[in-house]
Amino acid sequence: MRAEPVRNIGIMAHVDAGKTTLTEQLLYASGVIRTPGRVDHGTSLTDSLEVEKKRGITVRAASVVLNWKETNIRIIDTPGHADFYPEVERSIRALDGAVLVVSSVEGVQLQTLAIWTALRELGIPTLIFVNKLDRVGSEPHKLLEDMQKQLSTSIFPMQFVSRAERKTPRIIPISDHQQTMVKAMECLAHQDEQMMHRYAHDERTNWDEMDGLILRLTKEGKVFPVFFGVAMTGLGVSEVLDGVINYLPGPKGSNANDLSAVIFKVETGNVEGRMVHVRVFEGTIGQRLGIHNETTGKQEKAVRILRLARGRDYENTATLEAGDIGVLFGLQDSKVGHVLGSGYAIPNISTPVEPMLTAKIFPEQGNEWNELLEALQRLEDEDPLLNVEWLEEQREIHLRFFGEVQMEIVCNMLFSRFNLVADFSEPCVIYKETPAGVGEAGIKFRDGGYADLELRIEPLPTGSGFEYESLISGDNKIYQKFMKQIPQILEKIRNRGPSGREITDLKVVLVDGYCKYDLGTKPEDYKIVTPIVFNMALEKSGTRLLEPVMDFHISVPEEYGSQIYRDLVKMRAQFKQPAADGERLLFTGRVPFAETFKYTPVLYASSHGQGILKTKFCGYCPVEKTQ
Ligand code: GDP
Ligand code: MG
Repeated sequence: MRAEPVRNIGIMAHVDAGKTTLTEQLLYASGVIRTPGRVDHGTSLTDSLEVEKKRGITVRAASVVLNWKETNIRIIDTPGHADFYPEVERSIRALDGAVLVVSSVEGVQLQTLAIWTALRELGIPTLIFVNKLDRVGSEPHKLLEDMQKQLSTSIFPMQFVSRAERKTPRIIPISDHQQTMVKAMECLAHQDEQMMHRYAHDERTNWDEMDGLILRLTKEGKVFPVFFGVAMTGLGVSEVLDGVINYLPGPKGSNANDLSAVIFKVETGNVEGRMVHVRVFEGTIGQRLGIHNETTGKQEKAVRILRLARGRDYENTATLEAGDIGVLFGLQDSKVGHVLGSGYAIPNISTPVEPMLTAKIFPEQGNEWNELLEALQRLEDEDPLLNVEWLEEQREIHLRFFGEVQMEIVCNMLFSRFNLVADFSEPCVIYKETPAGVGEAGIKFRDGGYADLELRIEPLPTGSGFEYESLISGDNKIYQKFMKQIPQILEKIRNRGPSGREITDLKVVLVDGYCKYDLGTKPEDYKIVTPIVFNMALEKSGTRLLEPVMDFHISVPEEYGSQIYRDLVKMRAQFKQPAADGERLLFTGRVPFAETFKYTPVLYASSHGQGILKTKFCGYCPVEKTQ
């Protein structure tokens, strides 16, 4: 490992809490930039994409590096919108610690809760920065209590904010403020027996001792120190930097171990080509040496490697070491979320997500179809949650995607990067089909060719996908050359069944067939015959409609329980009696995605902004008929 200590951190926040502003101030305080950029003026270093400048929000993870008291702090700027949750999760995985920014005016928002849940799930040590103390209506002490209620009882202040009328707030460190010490002590006591003993016996403790305990428990992700400030003016910012190096852990890996790394971002530059952003947890990645992509099973090679150097500048390097974040060039088939080496050191590597919404996209200029398709294919390569399909016959481009904001971002990127103006149709949920029973069909094809084929379709349990089996072997019935084609053709046609929907959770059995060159069999024959027989068999089996279903958690204060109950019944949810969780109720169960993807604002209204919804894709299930 390099001698210089390192921190790989993320700054997380709900939109507008001040994440970008804080990042700018951290860069400024550490001397990377001479004047802090202003989001409102479109000059910030991290919001570099055109889209972000216009919208003033950060949608793509961008990394920056600064140096503070001989420690290298690398900040991965993470997106803050709920629709980009998978990206939030992906970047969280690359982190050793996080700073959560909460505005002392707007307070804890739904998005704050969602980020908090993800951080806790992955066990990422977290500091909290309470921002915008300068604003009218800022209530830092009330916010602290709210956070203790809504996020965790293990949240405690590291400072006291003294606010005289019309004056800049003053921030007093914990070591100079007895009352704040007592608050911290109370919180630590719940996690540490010795401290509990002292607290119960009203014994004083010295600051150094307490500091040591804060350090240990914060690194373990058990307690969460809170800092206060004004990101806009830089007040409290150096204290946050001290906090990061004092209380958040550095990377733990060792170069001597086997490679374990994860790709958290892919970009395609006009000049640079494909840039694969990677976090190395264990082992090393060397230039021009083979890299095993565990997800694809393929071998890749980096022809060039960059490491984050200073600010947003990268430097060439021959190796990425354990704990490093860098960019690889020359990788062809490696995508976001893929694991390089093996996944043993990567926290929580698999959240299966697939795009569940679809819309048509078309160029405003009627003739730019090719340009649009090419541009979309490039964006698809960068973001696996985007899926592009060109329907030749209908002359339509269908886009599968994850959320509505993602769609808007795509539109903006098409314009800023490719100078294309595109329009979208209203998004629809993607349904699939599965056979309702067994269906068998066969034909003897004699129409200018010669091929016999008999197929049987069988349903498989939910989540099985596609299986194929052949009951005939050898060359005596169907030539090997044609036999090999059949499953490939089936795979292609079942992706878009007769109704246009994917047919899944099925097995296709090749029951029988016959062909012969001397009777006139041609290579195209099975390409014609296979879809016909498949569709005939499918008509016999019949199909059932499948819809995406989500596992959900909803947590609300008790008094809103009955309203949520009614909402859930309306949404066709399957759920158990809610469980009590302090003063809150926890509902868990399953609900169709079609009902949840627009539920967030409803929940907000039903719970006066205090409900937390968390959903996770759990698969495609038969649509249950309601009554
Ligand atoms: P992000 O969406 O979390 O990246 O938030 P931004 O950094 O883009 O800030 C959102 C808005 O809040 C911008 O208009 C900022 O100028 C403003 N802002 C950020 N920090 C402060 C602060 O400490 N005080 C005040 N008054 N405004 C702030
Ligand atoms: Mg921002």
